[in-house]
Amino acid sequence: MEDFSFNEDLNEMVLEAKKYSKYGSVADYIPALGEANPETLSIAIYRGKGDCIAAGGIYEKFTLQSISKVITLAVALMDHGEDYVFSKVGMEPTGDPFNSIAKLETNIPSKPLNPMINAGALAVTNMIIGQSIDEKLGRILGLIHEMTSNSEITFCERVAKSELDTAFLNRSLCYFMKQHGVIQSSVEDLLDLYTKQCAIQVDCTDLAKLGYVIANEGRNPETGRQVIPLHITRIIKTFMVTCGMYNSSGEFAIRVGIPAKSGVSGAIMGSLPHGLGIGIYGPALDDRGNSVAGMKLLESLSSRYNLSIF
Ligand code: GLU
Repeated sequence: MEDFSFNEDLNEMVLEAKKYSKYGSVADYIPALGEANPETLSIAIYRGKGDCIAAGGIYEKFTLQSISKVITLAVALMDHGEDYVFSKVGMEPTGDPFNSIAKLETNIPSKPLNPMINAGALAVTNMIIGQSIDEKLGRILGLIHEMTSNSEITFCERVAKSELDTAFLNRSLCYFMKQHGVIQSSVEDLLDLYTKQCAIQVDCTDLAKLGYVIANEGRNPETGRQVIPLHITRIIKTFMVTCGMYNSSGEFAIRVGIPAKSGVSGAIMGSLPHGLGIGIYGPALDDRGNSVAGMKLLESLSSRYNLSIF
């Protein structure tokens, strides 16, 4: 890894990568996400203790979507331990799209392949301990507040409702898993919690801080607190490498080599072990659900500054 003195370069790299947004389109299967400006691209790179550089429209807020799966996995692992969590959800990558139902039927016993695809993430959200949806969501938000030192972060009701009203595929996944005993609770309550967790709203700096704490073995550099146990951050980083970029994870590992998780809002969170946290927002997606310009930007950063962990 080289010295990161890329302040001046960053604006230029964002402008260059932004040109690629024309090759993607915003997700509209969640109607509220369809309203995003496809040409936006922003990035924050956080290096601990207030050291953050950024470029693009960095105050813009967006929802975590699939990136929230990483946080709920951490909460579920802290709640129940590895043995229980991985008795319900596997650890293997899949070449299928994130919302596919196919493997649930062909895998015997029926068990989602990993916690980063929707089926697996729904099964993990089902494990969060709490008396009510509010309490469970509060625990997920609580961890995010501890990681970012930003207690203002909350969820966007409009995006959550837009997804809840149209989540027919996720409903099917839940009912399939309920039939097979992977989930036990009310499907509507689970979807209510899941869509709220996906609609948690951040900006690039918050996202970079989330990435940094995972990279930094679970410690918040500002408070010095260990907010996620070290062994859980290792599990999370490994899932980010093997499954974080949907069914492009293999190619992304070769071209970029930074543990990362993306979401269909166009967000990407990067965690470079012992190095830095990255938060990117660029809503134009490729056909697998990854930000086109965001991936291009990460590829340029990685090759220019030799950031690949491999
Ligand atoms: N809320 C989205 C869904 O379940 C998250 C998907 C994603 O970001 O990959 O469809």
